[in-house]
Amino acid sequence: MRFDSVIVGAGLSGLAVARNLAAKGESVALLEARDRIGGRILSRSADLEGGTGYDLGPAWIWPHNTRMLRLISELGLPLMRQHAAGKLVFQDQNGSIRRDLDFATMGEALRVEGGLARVADGLAHALPQGVLRLGHVVNRIESSESGVRLTGLIGGDAFTIEATRVILALPPRVVASTIEFLPALPETLLHGLKSVPTWMAGHAKLVAVFERAYWREAGFSGDAISHLGPLFEIHDASPDPEAAHGAALFGFVAPGRAGRGCDETRLIEDATRQLATLFGPGLGAPTHVLLENWANNPFTATDLDTPDLSGHPRYRGLDFAGLPWSGRVFLAGTETAPENGGFLEGALEAAERF
Ligand SMILES: Cc1cc2nc3c(=O)[nH]c(=O)nc-3n(C[C@H](O)[C@H](O)[C@H](O)COP(=O)(O)OP(=O)(O)OC[C@H]3O[C@@H](n4cnc5c(N)ncnc54)[C@H](O)[C@@H]3O)c2cc1C
Repeated sequence: MRFDSVIVGAGLSGLAVARNLAAKGESVALLEARDRIGGRILSRSADLEGGTGYDLGPAWIWPHNTRMLRLISELGLPLMRQHAAGKLVFQDQNGSIRRDLDFATMGEALRVEGGLARVADGLAHALPQGVLRLGHVVNRIESSESGVRLTGLIGGDAFTIEATRVILALPPRVVASTIEFLPALPETLLHGLKSVPTWMAGHAKLVAVFERAYWREAGFSGDAISHLGPLFEIHDASPDPEAAHGAALFGFVAPGRAGRGCDETRLIEDATRQLATLFGPGLGAPTHVLLENWANNPFTATDLDTPDLSGHPRYRGLDFAGLPWSGRVFLAGTETAPENGGFLEGALEAAERF
């Protein structure tokens, strides 16, 4: 098999690169290690059956994210405001709670009704048949006479694909830790790739689904900030504006309470208790709790990604210019976008180069 371009990684960035190149008439293959598209975009139904619903990865788009807004409009998907009407709940490190605060921390944010996976699905459906190949883990890239040779595994079986060039649409740290290059990359470049933090990779997000949005009825927005944990920032996560098709809250798990090796059963129990403490007994028990501990996923996080990434890192462009690989290996992915690196908008910014 030989292609003009092989793209590795069917997250938002890789999907957008594949769309751009296919539209230019290039022969393209898009290889994805997981058995699903979207990468860090992950929407799940409460019963984990469907592919849309509650966002366990990104949820928010902001009004200045013009590329994302354009794409969502092209795909004809409905946007809604992050629900923010009502009081915010605040818990200090001693457990004292205030329920009278009148501000919304994410009041400007927008969400896609039914979950962000609809954006990834929309991009994938527009690709020519045969471009997307799920379950293809790339683990080696060799320079060949006419370009590159990629090898890897589909299930237990090996595969080889040749191309004029390869575009790596995955976090630089994942490139450095999971793909072997022949000839080897220079140490300075390897160090450069490893030094780029993967945004949110060490974090965990929990969604609790309820029979009704009690917090809205009781005058709360669903926003909560807790210095006690295990959830430190909580918001409404209902998949439609009226919470008519499911009511939910989501929370980011506090650094130190998630990450590799954490006891997920205990975390879910503690978080469920915490939500009842914050919003009061009227909240009731959740019907479902979904947890995604991103630190445990080798296609997103490496040993270097700790959950205590606090401020937003400064990202800059990275490339293979000046190396024997120049012209054959390119980087995409949000962590290579100089202006919007880390965000969904950055994934599209990086894809624009192709
Ligand atoms: C919990 C959480 C909350 C977030 N919240 C927001 C938010 O509200 N707003 C926002 O703008 N951004 C948010 N982000 C960031 C956002 O998710 C990312 O910016 C975006 O999804 C990155 O897309 P990408 O395509 O660059 O990378 P990824 O989505 O990481 O895609 C990389 C792809 O490469 C694949 N891959 C990896 N290794 C291999 C291999 N060896 N072979 C083949 N395939 C491979 C992976 O499986 C993956 O599909 C959040 C992220 C997380 C985790």
